[in-house]
Amino acid sequence: MRALVKDERTVGLREVPRPVASREDDVIIQVAVAGLCRTDVYVAEGRLPVRPPLVLGHELAGTVAEVGRAVRGLTPGERVTVHPLLACGECPGCRRSERCGRPAQLGVHHDGAFAEYVRVPASAVHRLPPGLPFMLGAYVEPVAAALGVLEAGMRPGQRGLIYGDNRIAQLTRRVLAAHGLNEVPLYAPRRGERLAADAYDFIIETELSDQALADMLEALRPGGTLVLKSRRHEPVALPVARAVLKDVTLKAVSYGPFSEALALLAGGRLKVDDLLGEVHPLEAHAALFEAAGRSEERKVFFAPGRG
Ligand SMILES: [Zn+2]
Ligand SMILES: [Zn+2]
Repeated sequence: MRALVKDERTVGLREVPRPVASREDDVIIQVAVAGLCRTDVYVAEGRLPVRPPLVLGHELAGTVAEVGRAVRGLTPGERVTVHPLLACGECPGCRRSERCGRPAQLGVHHDGAFAEYVRVPASAVHRLPPGLPFMLGAYVEPVAAALGVLEAGMRPGQRGLIYGDNRIAQLTRRVLAAHGLNEVPLYAPRRGERLAADAYDFIIETELSDQALADMLEALRPGGTLVLKSRRHEPVALPVARAVLKDVTLKAVSYGPFSEALALLAGGRLKVDDLLGEVHPLEAHAALFEAAGRSEERKVFFAPGRG
């Protein structure tokens, strides 16, 4: 099958063996569409180190092609999406059937979805509601990631801010609005400009730097919450004393429930059409990765079966 593979130096379109359900809980999915994300760009650029060769991509929707012996409740032909954090099955959290403490990320530690087929454990697979197009199915992952911010427990009536005006910031604002938090503005940081001091109950960051972190700590009111949403891989400098003296809560969030993200999209409570771009064959990868590294206007997708 064809796949976008990161090797020692570059990302290229390669012919690789099609995965098979070799473990009893494996599900093989024929990928219909897969979204291109910041994480893929970080891997391609080498900013997020991986062990090559690796198939990229973690936002997908497709059709079940094959299931392992022990898989129940999923049959070939069903339309599905995938939670990209794959439980290890061995850590204390997994042994207690709770949250995995060291999940592998699809497309980072485990061959991903920019391929005609992908292999994932059944526990990561979510069925698509009838009628939900594959493109929205592949967009469930960013929506679930935006839903994660609600874990910080903000309430209507609080004064909040979303730091950044990129696509993730826009999606986060809509997810908050769908939960009654209607008036959380986006803030596009500009050189020389400062946020009001001690003004916000919560700030959700969607882009981070040393300066941004310092600015946000100043802008939070004492006792406020800073929600860490972006996945910057390089460390940032935290002004610890400032955070301590203001009793700031730092809340890092990964994903909210996939079931809720699916319901939001399927029920039409969350409109995202204007955030979605075109669908391309895998051959278009070089230009798309390059464009995605520069701007974040619309999410673009690959259709690995095409081309
Ligand atoms: Zn993503
Ligand atoms: Zn685990």
